[in-house]
Amino acid sequence: MQQRIHRQQEGSLIYYTSDNITTKHLFTTKFGGVSKGYLASLNLGFNRGDERSNVLQNYQILADHFRVPRARMTMTKQIHSDIVRVVDENTMGMGLGQPMSWKADAIITNLPHVPLCGYYADCVVTLLHDPVSKSIGVCHSGWRGTASGILGKTVQRMQEQYGAKPENIEAAIGPSIRQCCFETDADVPDAMTETMGESVTPFIQPRGKKFFLDLQGINREQLERCGVRNIVDSGMCTKCMHDTFWSHRATHGNRGVQAGVIMLEG
Ligand SMILES: [Zn+2]
Repeated sequence: MQQRIHRQQEGSLIYYTSDNITTKHLFTTKFGGVSKGYLASLNLGFNRGDERSNVLQNYQILADHFRVPRARMTMTKQIHSDIVRVVDENTMGMGLGQPMSWKADAIITNLPHVPLCGYYADCVVTLLHDPVSKSIGVCHSGWRGTASGILGKTVQRMQEQYGAKPENIEAAIGPSIRQCCFETDADVPDAMTETMGESVTPFIQPRGKKFFLDLQGINREQLERCGVRNIVDSGMCTKCMHDTFWSHRATHGNRGVQAGVIMLEG
């Protein structure tokens, strides 16, 4: 199969891009920042035990890459919810250019030159772009967000807010923990089945008393159900690739955090 996710390097910054997304975007790795120790080096989390000045410098590196002032980079406090929020002139720069005053797991915008950030260290971050309505979104879904259908709700919100058509949307499912490593107890598949019904059964592999979940498959299914067809799945497992990515499970929580970032070029 043709490779559709590409490893890129710009100076010490190492990141991945997806060739179906036709606006500027990336998935960061551990590499290219100034943080030290177990946070070395491109930690993007303010609450991981890092010095704030290091994290700000890491955002500056990304802002330089996107060629925007750092204060335009926009984020949300992720809470494993199904909340989608709209980034407009008033909320642009939330979390960096202005104090964080919202919680959500997906943000969308039609503003150019406003990079949207979604965070992962095993969770699924999906980047969305509709080149026709000129709108973008970033969605964070761990198993709780996946069970609550947040990715489908993000696509619906892009339709309502910006008139995005699913058939025009480009979607890239980022590096995240995959079925090879995502071992759970029964509570996780039970929650999935309760909210999504039998459609999730093919994505749950029982093994003894444990279960192995294909979160990416379930998220792809949510996109397809909305009518999104142009989907690339990175195929990369953060736990298997723990030399490149921080994996929450591989590090037992002593880790930095990566971001999927997307921006309209206007
Ligand atoms: Zn794995």
